[in-house]
Amino acid sequence: MSKIHKIEAMIPKQIEKKKVAAYARVSALTEMTQYSFSAQVNYYSALIQKNPNWKYVGVYADKGITGRSIKKRKEFNRLIDDCNNGKIDLILTKSVSRFARDTVDTLNTIRHLKNIGVDVYFEKENIHSISQEGELLLTFLAAYAQAESENTSENIKWGIRKGFKVGKPNGYKAPYGYKWNGNSYSIVPEQGAIVKEIYKRYLDGEPAYSIAKALKKRGIKGQTGIPMDDSTIRYIVSNISYTGTLLLQKWFFTQNHVRKENKGELPMYAVENMFEPLVSKEDFQKALQIKKERAEAMPNKNPRLTAFSGIVKCGNCGCSVCRRTTRYGKKWVCNAKDRKGMAACDFRDIYEIELEAAATKALAVNEFKEDLVRREVKLITIDNAYIVFNLKDGKKKQILRTYTKGYSGFSCRLFCGNCRKMLEADSRTLSINGQKKRYKIWCCRKCPGQREFDDVIRKATQSLFNEPQCEGLFAQNIEKAIIYNDRIDFYFKEGKVITWEKE
Ligand SMILES: [Zn+2]
Ligand SMILES: [Zn+2]
Repeated sequence: MSKIHKIEAMIPKQIEKKKVAAYARVSALTEMTQYSFSAQVNYYSALIQKNPNWKYVGVYADKGITGRSIKKRKEFNRLIDDCNNGKIDLILTKSVSRFARDTVDTLNTIRHLKNIGVDVYFEKENIHSISQEGELLLTFLAAYAQAESENTSENIKWGIRKGFKVGKPNGYKAPYGYKWNGNSYSIVPEQGAIVKEIYKRYLDGEPAYSIAKALKKRGIKGQTGIPMDDSTIRYIVSNISYTGTLLLQKWFFTQNHVRKENKGELPMYAVENMFEPLVSKEDFQKALQIKKERAEAMPNKNPRLTAFSGIVKCGNCGCSVCRRTTRYGKKWVCNAKDRKGMAACDFRDIYEIELEAAATKALAVNEFKEDLVRREVKLITIDNAYIVFNLKDGKKKQILRTYTKGYSGFSCRLFCGNCRKMLEADSRTLSINGQKKRYKIWCCRKCPGQREFDDVIRKATQSLFNEPQCEGLFAQNIEKAIIYNDRIDFYFKEGKVITWEKE
């Protein structure tokens, strides 16, 4: 008797939707209009309902109150109640300053929500409260929200100190020279002395690499346990932390929880005298100035872009065509071919002089004008036969590629009819009809008699395409040509084969 196995049904597990609510608040003083209020409500309900992974719970909105009078925040209290009853997983809100009454209240509320598994997303600051680093950042931000409304710097410091007490989550490393003492940063004496030495030498005019070298010789190691290099030295002489100043939001977290350097996306706050300085503010400013002057004196690392930069595409594979410096001159090459070789793309590199000549022709001028290219050309696509200029006015200009000496459209595509080996270019001085002349020929290394004049292949190709400048067309359309004594077989890339009979 056969045994019967029970086969479990493979039903995909239902993905549970997040229960999402929003909290909106319009203060009485600044946004009295009904429009502003309903606009916020509409905005949030639409935002939640259009996300397929979210379940719309509702928009909670308090109207006509300021943050300080929290007792009257009916909707806020209802929101927290619903959170307590498990009705909400995520709250969307405009900003930290709009959420709770003050720093303490904000922190308490967020911590409470965190404990019961409710995430709060602050749109303006782009922060999730449940993210690992969220709490410290929120503490800082809440401190600022508070300080901004009261506008006293003492309050800011109080808030920050309070923030420090929250603890140091991963990712907030003390700068070299300091350590986290559970409350704030304190100086590590040996490291502090090194920082002071670095500043002194730098201000005395010593280059960063020389300072790094000297420290390495003495076995001094940086924060990561390896000797400091010149870039670390330059980082130290431009880190404002050493003046006892704390920069808030020097880093921030993106929506995907990626830690990112703040380059102006969000406001940055500098809070002075937060911990014991290693460097005076004057010395720090001097070091910054020296660093700036040295950077300016450096030769320009990014040479000026050419008129073609960023607008040339490979017509074979669609990749960008980029500029390279070779000993024969500037050349434009297909990125895919450059990285993965001929198998990925058989683009024939183009010298800048050819590209310039083509642009001159396409724009119908007498000499190459870079400005004109910038003004009129939108995109250039190049394949082995043509250079196509897509102009900004919508027109297209197609220029046949030329093949200069030594570079032939026939290269690597001609094969011996006898042994199938690839033919190689050569030149011979022959005397035909009593006239001595140099001829370009293609010959097989294996079969001594197998050779063909370049002119003959050219003539055959010309008749094939009915076009005198045919090398480019050959390179673009023909996969290979097999040269026999009496004929040439042209194998097209698209599959057809055309035989050309020799005269
Ligand atoms: Zn390509
Ligand atoms: Zn051969």
